Amino acid sequence: MIVASAAYLLGLRRVRSRPRPENNITLQHLQLGSEIARQVSTVLMLQELLPHVVHLIQQRFGFYFVGVWLVDEAEEGSQALTLQVGSCPPGVEPPPQGTRYTFESGSVLGQVCTRGVCFPLEDVRSAKEYPHLPELSEALSALFLPLRMGDEVIGVLDIQHDTRHTFTPVEIMLLQGLADQVAVAIRNAQLYEAEQQRRKLAESLQKIGGELASSLDMRQVPQQILEQLAAVVPYERGSVMLQRDHELEIIAQRGFPDNRRALNLRVAIREDDVFQQMVQANRPIWVDDVTQASGWQQLDWLPLNRSWMGVPLITKNRVIGMISLTRKEAAAFSEEDAALVLTFAGQAAIALENASLYDEITRFNAELEKAYHNLARLDQAKADFIEVAAHELRTPLTVIKGYTQVLASRPGVVDDPDSQILLKSVMDGVNRLHEIINSMLDVSKIDNQTLSMHIEPTWLHMVVRRVAGELKEALQERNLTLTVEDLQELPWIQADSELLYKVFYHLVVNAIKYTPDGGHITIRGSKVLGDDNVPAVQISVHDTGIGIDPAHHELIFEKFYQTGKVSVHSSGRTKFKGGGPGLGLAIASGIVRAHNGRIWAESPGHDEENLPGSTFYVQLPIKPVAERYALSGVDEKAQKGHSILET
Ligand code: ADP
Repeated sequence: MIVASAAYLLGLRRVRSRPRPENNITLQHLQLGSEIARQVSTVLMLQELLPHVVHLIQQRFGFYFVGVWLVDEAEEGSQALTLQVGSCPPGVEPPPQGTRYTFESGSVLGQVCTRGVCFPLEDVRSAKEYPHLPELSEALSALFLPLRMGDEVIGVLDIQHDTRHTFTPVEIMLLQGLADQVAVAIRNAQLYEAEQQRRKLAESLQKIGGELASSLDMRQVPQQILEQLAAVVPYERGSVMLQRDHELEIIAQRGFPDNRRALNLRVAIREDDVFQQMVQANRPIWVDDVTQASGWQQLDWLPLNRSWMGVPLITKNRVIGMISLTRKEAAAFSEEDAALVLTFAGQAAIALENASLYDEITRFNAELEKAYHNLARLDQAKADFIEVAAHELRTPLTVIKGYTQVLASRPGVVDDPDSQILLKSVMDGVNRLHEIINSMLDVSKIDNQTLSMHIEPTWLHMVVRRVAGELKEALQERNLTLTVEDLQELPWIQADSELLYKVFYHLVVNAIKYTPDGGHITIRGSKVLGDDNVPAVQISVHDTGIGIDPAHHELIFEKFYQTGKVSVHSSGRTKFKGGGPGLGLAIASGIVRAHNGRIWAESPGHDEENLPGSTFYVQLPIKPVAERYALSGVDEKAQKGHSILET
């Protein structure tokens, strides 16, 4: 029934400019409805969809004008309708896109939106609510249909005739059906666009995140951020600027006509300029039209862009610079753009923070390397000095020693007890000096890796006995007891017995020196499994002396390292706390390492009253592996020769 009357109504209608096809309008409506639905599913971008749909409706029905107006925010919270697209018959120019009517203007467009109902006008010329547009001067009747999404009206479908026409309820109902479909299409396209926008943003941020994680040179990142940003917030010129004292310096730019000039650009920060305003607000600010902004510094070599936005770069709650964007047309930036750029600014700030940390680390590394080279140079100079000094001192010392011996056996001296006592003191001093010089030579051989080794079956019991015999007098002098336990059971090992003699000599001398009179020294031995489960022997030298602070347990094996003050030590070989040159443990450690063994100290701490004592451990493999000598820095040729260490 409805179908029949619609066809009838439309059959009566006459179109002045173009004959309307005499088809059944309902069928057309239905066909058009399904066509729009198809368009909606294929053309998703709003800019493409609307012209299509509007053109379709205008053409199919031969209307004089079909347009779509969409609601948007006008200034100060009020609303307005903006013409998105319009279609007229060929030869007629539709009103320009962007034509606007506020809700307050009293036009029928606003009323359709606020009331949510359609508005037919049979005679537009006499209707004061009709939005008169010069381009549509031939319009005689019109129908304004709300574009509804549930309870919300998102715009108006504007249909105009160039004949006087009364829209019947059926016609209105069918056209409203079309309008509803258009509204759905618009909303879908808007959602799709928003989704696209979000996806682009997510992709850009992900890309920047990737750059941040992988880029070694963080200074590249601000440039990449500007590139990525352009895909999300369009702009003509963009720059990342850092504050340096009272100026802003561009560290990355995009869209400037002259890259070099841009990067050399310094913008003076002035009282209350946009940068200062942004710092104070601590959030993005934008200028809709810079030509209207007082005090705007426009550079003559840059094309005028009217819109400007500044977004702060914030690290540790401090604004360190900004991302500055410009667009040609006025009022181009929105709140939404500001929020997007702010996200990118966050990433840029992290990159810049990392870049400065990276610079600091690089600088620190360079300094460390320099210090390391200096130390290595000093160490070498020290080693050279020890070697030269030891050699130079040895010759005159040998002469003194020889002549002292000659003097002691001369008639008149040999049987003069006073002279003999004096000469014995000279000899003791000479021997002590000789011992120190030998230690210096040992250390320099270890340092220069020229320690020669004579490997032979060695019984540590014998080595230790020799040491005990050598130091018997000193032990008696200091009233110390030395106990040697379980060494007889130890297996023979492949080692240089002369070198090992030095190891235990230094350990026992130290035990004597750092144990008060009346104390005990105990040397024990056992068979153990050493590193890599290699069978080894382990000797411990324990004393009841002053002990060693754990902080020094490793350092004492460095050459010249002494725990006490050098200036206050006495220099006797075995006197209590009679510190030596600080070479004994360095020599012991060098020799043990040359045997592929291990040496370490244990002690609860340093205490001269409670005497916690110290224990030194030496672990030596029973059969050292031949190639290990080379690894441990021992001269291979020297291995075959005899020990050339002086004793
Ligand atoms: P030094 O010639 O000074 O004895 P060493 O290299 O033999 O040099 O020893 C280095 C430092 O280790 C000594 O100055 C001393 O402070 C500490 N030390 C070594 N052995 C002992 C020990 N048995 N008890 C306490 N301290 C020790």
